[in-house]
Amino acid sequence: MHQFKYRDNKLFCESVDLDRIAAEHGTPCYVYSANTIRENYSRLSDSLAGVNARICYAMKANSNLAVLRLFSSLGAAFDLVSGGEIRRVAAAGGNIGTSVFAGVGKRVEEIELALRNGIFSIHVESEAELHRIDRVAGGLGRKAPVAVRVNPDVDAGTHAKITTGKSENKFGVPFDSALDIYRTAAGLENIEIRGVQIHIGSQITRVDPFVAAVGKMHPLVEELKKRYGIGYFSIGGGLGIAYEHALASGDPAWWDKEDGGGSLLTPERYGEAVVPLLKDLDLEVLLEPGRFMVGNAGVLLTRVEHVKHGAGRNFVIVDGAMNDLLRPAMYDAYHEIVPVAEAREGDSVNADVVGPICESGDCFARQRTLPQLAEGDLLAVLSAGAYGFVMAGRYNTRAMPAEVLVDGDKVAEVTARETFERIIANERIPDFL
Ligand SMILES: *Cc1c(COP(=O)(O)O)cnc(C)c1O
Repeated sequence: MHQFKYRDNKLFCESVDLDRIAAEHGTPCYVYSANTIRENYSRLSDSLAGVNARICYAMKANSNLAVLRLFSSLGAAFDLVSGGEIRRVAAAGGNIGTSVFAGVGKRVEEIELALRNGIFSIHVESEAELHRIDRVAGGLGRKAPVAVRVNPDVDAGTHAKITTGKSENKFGVPFDSALDIYRTAAGLENIEIRGVQIHIGSQITRVDPFVAAVGKMHPLVEELKKRYGIGYFSIGGGLGIAYEHALASGDPAWWDKEDGGGSLLTPERYGEAVVPLLKDLDLEVLLEPGRFMVGNAGVLLTRVEHVKHGAGRNFVIVDGAMNDLLRPAMYDAYHEIVPVAEAREGDSVNADVVGPICESGDCFARQRTLPQLAEGDLLAVLSAGAYGFVMAGRYNTRAMPAEVLVDGDKVAEVTARETFERIIANERIPDFL
């Protein structure tokens, strides 16, 4: 469910007209719904009521300070993947002592930063890294709390660039060598074994891959509990969202209808499937959802610059581009695109929605049926709250877009549009030129 809905023929975010946001904050601009995030958080935690669960929001999906503050106020911990993210959580007042630090290539300084900030656990991805963490902890005169990320070798049935739980991926240690690496860890002076971790991929829209992975891990987790007294099992993130029918998915009735066959992943269905597999382990269960928490809570607002009728193809050229929202170019991702002024019944066009960047990949949608559009019309690219702004860049010397947070009838610009001076601030022309 989300809170982007038409009211009086205009698209609203909660109680705020998106037209007004575009007028006041300009475009392209990300808009987030605080109450959608709150609802996503409580639905997922309610669905796991049968176990002692801790939600570590995977902040790489959307790391705006205001968004982090919101999660922190809900009681969330964080899944962190860099020193920069550790510092962001600190800047937002979040709790690092309940959070976990993941990633295949953690630098020495990042491990130090995590330990100095009292990280709850570091998720280890290789034996080499385990030895590095041991050395760094020894240097600081501390013990490093760790869990090993085990690769359960299950197919999450998702896009090749976001599947992580197959043995050919760079993530985690192979299932069959997990016990060996735990034995090594147990022998290291500055390591404290705290848990075990899996994360099998992203945008997983069925429950069976989660069931397969947790089921496969179950005997190993039991064994680790017996041998090393581990206290938690992190089952990762990866819960998918509705990209197609994104607008309709804001309506509970749509879920009732579509979910009739039991094919769509919902937090309730996820909880029903995994809780029974986890209950008897009697461990704390950590989750690391990113996309699920914020994906449907954000849109990218963009304005039509021109409508161009090419030879046999129409183009809607908008002011947003691949530098603002990379997912279509990078993952061939589908995003539903809707007009902010609700379309009247009648004429529609088939068009590609493209940005102004000199790359054929700068395309948000191909051959999409849209209402008749004209210069100045506003469009909302839906489901853009996760892996949107955080992947934005400055290609073509385009400024980073603005971000706006809506909470009921309140509106705040939580990231100002970047200025040209900021874009070039770190550049220097050397004397010898
Ligand atoms: C990216 C990532 C997540 C979050 O993935 P989502 O698909 O956004 O839920 C969780 N855990 C780890 C280790 C990750 O790398």
